[in-house]
Amino acid sequence: MIEAKHINKTYKVGELSLEVIKDLSLIIEEGEFISIIGPSGSGKSTVLNMLGCLDKPTSGEIIIDNTAINEMDRTELAHFRGENIGFIFQSFNLIPVLSVYENIEYPLIMIQSLPEHIRKERVLSVLKEVDMLDQKDKFPDQISGGQKQRVAIARALVTNPKIVFADEPTANLDSKTAHRIIDLMHKIKKDYNTTFVFATHDEKIVSSAERIITLVDGEITEDKRIKT
Ligand code: ADP
Ligand code: MG
Repeated sequence: MIEAKHINKTYKVGELSLEVIKDLSLIIEEGEFISIIGPSGSGKSTVLNMLGCLDKPTSGEIIIDNTAINEMDRTELAHFRGENIGFIFQSFNLIPVLSVYENIEYPLIMIQSLPEHIRKERVLSVLKEVDMLDQKDKFPDQISGGQKQRVAIARALVTNPKIVFADEPTANLDSKTAHRIIDLMHKIKKDYNTTFVFATHDEKIVSSAERIITLVDGEITEDKRIKT
């Protein structure tokens, strides 16, 4: 379970301080499939980054599985993230000097002390799921935007995280691939009770979400659960 209690985020821009998230409180239960929607600049990425422990709120508290994020130091936080959280970035953030295979393997090497044959099994299995097996030896600058997106998705899923945050994950995908990726995420949710939180405009994701949270100017204006 993820709980955000009265979080605020203020960016300092020169003399100005820009209040981007205002007193936001939210509870996300295990296994939920949530879309955060809202106009560009409404704070979706900022909220996702804070819930995903990549960034800290200016004030307020975030608690994940009874752990107060604020109280962890950088090392603890990095471990916690590695063990529990998968993040799919809007801009992919692939490592250019690593191959497709190595990019996906990277979080397993960094965090989990898995035997090599299991590591290989996992990487090959997610590569297959995102249909990138035949591209595994290429480097990021040799593949298309949609393919990079699929590698980023595979990298986020390879650790079997409890929670996956995805910032506009289908923005660079054609409709067919997007549908396949969404189906894959549903399957993972069903098999592992993984929690998915998306920031997205994509109707395909929004229509398959079980809960839709609308953000306007850093505040939740609607929080709607859809019966499935
Ligand atoms: P969204 O993802 O909904 O488009 P963001 O969370 O990216 O919105 O941004 C919300 C607001 O915060 C925007 O006005 C953006 O310009 C501002 N913002 C985001 N990151 C920073 C930053 N690092 N420094 C200053 N302002 C920022
Ligand atoms: Mg954004």
